[in-house]
Amino acid sequence: MKIFVLNCGSSSLKYQLFDMKDESVIASGKVERIGMEDAILTHEPTGKEDLKLVTEILDHTTAIEKVFNYLVDPKYGVISDINEIEAVGHRVVHGGEVFSDSVKVDAQVKAAIKGTFDLAPLHNPANLVGIEAVETVLPGVPNVAVFDTAFHQTMPKKAYMYALPRILYKKHKIRRYGFHGTSHKYVSQKAAEFLSKSIEDLKIVSCHIGNGASIAAIDKGKSVDTSMGMTPLEGLMMGTRSGDIDPAIIPFVMEKEDLTLNEVNSMLNKHSGLLGVSGIGSDMRDIEENMDSNENAKLAFDMYEYRIRKYIGAYAAAMNGIDVLIFTAGVGENSNILRKAIANNLTYLGIEIDDKLNNIRSKEVRRISTPNSKVEVLVVPTNEELMIARDTLRIVKSSK
Ligand code: ADP
Repeated sequence: MKIFVLNCGSSSLKYQLFDMKDESVIASGKVERIGMEDAILTHEPTGKEDLKLVTEILDHTTAIEKVFNYLVDPKYGVISDINEIEAVGHRVVHGGEVFSDSVKVDAQVKAAIKGTFDLAPLHNPANLVGIEAVETVLPGVPNVAVFDTAFHQTMPKKAYMYALPRILYKKHKIRRYGFHGTSHKYVSQKAAEFLSKSIEDLKIVSCHIGNGASIAAIDKGKSVDTSMGMTPLEGLMMGTRSGDIDPAIIPFVMEKEDLTLNEVNSMLNKHSGLLGVSGIGSDMRDIEENMDSNENAKLAFDMYEYRIRKYIGAYAAAMNGIDVLIFTAGVGENSNILRKAIANNLTYLGIEIDDKLNNIRSKEVRRISTPNSKVEVLVVPTNEELMIARDTLRIVKSSK
């Protein structure tokens, strides 16, 4: 069975085509600058020559049509007939309180996704555009929506409520939702598999540290707390996002700097975090390269590490223990320096990592803790696309 996985943004899309027989990727690619005369389509068929094309692509439907044409193209194609695609899995950022699992898309589901536009105004409209574009281009093929928030719907109320007047929850559904759920679910399952243990017996803290970053407390396979909130701004310090701040800073800065709501939003989301503190950039590689000679880069690194460590401590407290600590995503998978700094300050939890193992670079799941460590510390490369493909297959099979 071939499954097409689509991640649609407002002016871009990314895709992967899976052969679920062996879960291999048979083509992947992206379209950027949708809406422009010089949109860029990059198509990478496995085992064939890559294609990069600059052409006019004015909307998502056209973009998807073009991608599907290349999937069956004699030179760049990987399948002979587009009908070989039996289902399409869509990444949808926000599922609100409606979706606690992936779901087959129908008119009701689309209406519910529309109902969450307020909660994710930048992402969800684009995700729905992607679904409708596929409905147009591939009529009759089932679409499955896989939500970033769904995995965290198991959080207890004490973890997801904010200490605000209750009317705000009732009227506007203001609460913690959490994100990166597809990744936290994938890496926690992968970790249990790697350790040959049942996930039911594990207390896991999963650190998804990429450009965006979040931590989840996963008890018996269920998310019980996570650092991102109603939006992805809360929690850890990130590449360009502030993470936790005193909310009173917002009206204060707005008044002192004469900022509008949009400006303060953009400050917190795009000009803060590693970028804001270091003044160098949002990429951890640049911070690490400069931190011996630049004190702002050093401060940015120290703050970033310190906050991750505080959350790990908090989640060990939330679950009354921790058996497994997972690092994943761009920074988590690659920065041995950050992992070492975090682990060396968590000895009170019985965490001990092996420097040699920590310094190994690999795309495989690996243990970096010593045999003496009371907590298994693992690096687990995430694969959100594969998780979306697996969920799509599961939902399509169960709805037959
Ligand atoms: P996104 O949230 O955009 O999906 P990723 O998970 O791809 O992000 O992570 C991207 C980040 O990973 C980059 O911004 C960079 O800081 C970090 N990164 C990638 N390689 C390394 C490395 N070798 N060392 C440290 N950080 C790295």
